[in-house]
Amino acid sequence: MCHAFLTDARFYRFLFQIDQAIADEVQSAGCPHCGGALHVSCYPRKPRGIAGVLDECYEYRLSFCCAQQGCRRRSTPPSVRFLGRKVFLGVMVVLVTAMEHGLTAKRRRQLIDELGLYPQSLSRWRRWWRQTFAVSRCWRTEQGNFMPPIQADELPGALLGRLSGQPLALRLCRLLLLVAPVTTTSWSGSLRVAIDPQNM
Ligand SMILES: [Zn+2]
Repeated sequence: MCHAFLTDARFYRFLFQIDQAIADEVQSAGCPHCGGALHVSCYPRKPRGIAGVLDECYEYRLSFCCAQQGCRRRSTPPSVRFLGRKVFLGVMVVLVTAMEHGLTAKRRRQLIDELGLYPQSLSRWRRWWRQTFAVSRCWRTEQGNFMPPIQADELPGALLGRLSGQPLALRLCRLLLLVAPVTTTSWSGSLRVAIDPQNM
């Protein structure tokens, strides 16, 4: 991969800070079911593909449990780092599927080797964008903001191309924040968290 930020610990630290800001917002709003206090109850994670760059905050996904007796329901905030239960970070899933369009068969094999991907991951991720994300409530809400419309089979590359901001790392952060609602099924709502390029 030729993108320097992918091996830069600061980039991953920045993504963590966005996740932390989202989690703070979710926690301060309290349990969406009963209004009870939310207590920290993280999920362990072992992200693959970029070992050595990630610090210990990547060993867990931020999540909460309601403290109220009789409720105790979980609220997992949206994440710009973890795309559901996938073992690769969201940034990998976006970049690899976005660039796959222009790859030769040889380059595709190289990428699979470099990142230690499962060979079937690429086609599974492509299907996820086109069949799962494309019909999600998140995308149905967002897609109207893009004119001309972005077709399902152009995801996520076309979306990455349409977002504003240089460098690519900033556009990736914006894309990850846009798709973050699909990373959880135990919390829904709108977030006020915004990305401040000054902090990158
Ligand atoms: Zn509750």
